[in-house]
Amino acid sequence: MNQATTTDMSNTEKWQSLDTAHHLHPFTSHKDLLQKPPRIIESATGVYLTDSDGNELLDMMAGLWCVNMGYGRQELIDAASSQIQQLPYYNAFFKTSTPPAAELSALLSEVAPAHINHTFFTSSGSEANDTVLRLVWRYWDILGKPEKRVVISRKNAYHGSTIAASSLGGMDDMHAQGGIIPDVVHVEQPNWFAKRCELGTDLDREEFGRQAAQSIADKIEELGADKVAAFIAEPIQGAGGVIVPPDSYWPEVKRICEHYGILLIADEVICGFGRTGEWFGTDYYDLKPDLMPIAKGLSSGYLPIGGVLVADHVMDLLTTRGGELNHGYTYSGHPVCAAVAIANIQLMQRENIVQTVRESTAPYLQKRLRELGDHPLVGEVRGVGMFGALELVADKENYIKFDKDLGVGGICRDHCFDNGIIMRAVGDAMIISPPLVLQAADIDVFIERAWKCLDLTHKAIT
Ligand SMILES: *Cc1c(COP(=O)(O)O)cnc(C)c1O
Repeated sequence: MNQATTTDMSNTEKWQSLDTAHHLHPFTSHKDLLQKPPRIIESATGVYLTDSDGNELLDMMAGLWCVNMGYGRQELIDAASSQIQQLPYYNAFFKTSTPPAAELSALLSEVAPAHINHTFFTSSGSEANDTVLRLVWRYWDILGKPEKRVVISRKNAYHGSTIAASSLGGMDDMHAQGGIIPDVVHVEQPNWFAKRCELGTDLDREEFGRQAAQSIADKIEELGADKVAAFIAEPIQGAGGVIVPPDSYWPEVKRICEHYGILLIADEVICGFGRTGEWFGTDYYDLKPDLMPIAKGLSSGYLPIGGVLVADHVMDLLTTRGGELNHGYTYSGHPVCAAVAIANIQLMQRENIVQTVRESTAPYLQKRLRELGDHPLVGEVRGVGMFGALELVADKENYIKFDKDLGVGGICRDHCFDNGIIMRAVGDAMIISPPLVLQAADIDVFIERAWKCLDLTHKAIT
């Protein structure tokens, strides 16, 4: 059993020692954790977290890109508590449903693009992407083209962490540990900053966007369109470092998918539910995807729920010719999670949050974020809506990155923690994806603290 002894310790020490002794963490080096135990986050309200030592932290990551409506929202708490009393669980298999599952699916078709009116429910974004793969293969199978199997994705994409989802994702570190399933291939990501650093020169942004899109067409030609089932992408790559594509990219990608007759899957797990200042990233870029995995902001992270939004033509095919769908999860359409998601979407509608983001909060955030571009460490500032990134570089003029081993992003992230803000480091890119309910005054606090943390980072490495 080897239970940690916890007498005579502060609460923080107690939780840290229990955690270090017994908790296997996701995406964490346990060797590092032995040196520096985890911070314990104990409570939160609005856009602020409180750790177990009473420190307040401005949460510029909305948890993990998900707490869009902020912490402590009574409407969401009430929805969970009344539904858990009424009916804590029932399934959606075998011709049954529950009021929250039915109502949430209707509400989603109200906020989704017009050509999408059905949702398959999951408990997470990773599960949603497993479902995507099942639906894509099923779709072509029903149409009598089972040899259309290959899904094209992009390098550095993030689609989750199950075997299927991490295969669809383009993270080399994940493939190295989990392998990759057959029939998934990866093409260039539209990462203008990385390309300039690689080349060491400036580069026409829109021309690069077209080239990145062309890499999809090249891959289809190489494999044969009769072998390719779908293209999957986040409208804006999130975990890969908030990669905002050039304006030329998406119209060209859309054209290529139509031209070759392959399905377009927009992974809306981060971009969905207001992050871009539209309900979905596909609204922002005017895409017309066939499938849209969702999760995270769907419930503001209060309870785990995800899903796949299914376009009408796919649904019609499944209905008329698909027979029984041999796929589902025990918790598909979980009534308590669905009740919270309903309350979350209704709260978004009541508070007009998408419009507020688009017209007021996001323009202010993006404007102030760009001021940080004057800092000597910051080589690029980018962002759309309520997310953004600062690229920390060794030499701004010549697009020279820091040596990876210096871990500059990690140093900056630790300074942020110590100075009351949470930013995430993706390599040397500092990422923000704050709650949508962030106010101008919070943004001012963030900019002031971020500048200070950039200074501290600069000092630490020179
Ligand atoms: C987080 C994320 C996922 C995976 O969602 P989980 O709920 O962690 O399984 C999938 N796609 C994108 C774009 C994500 O950001």
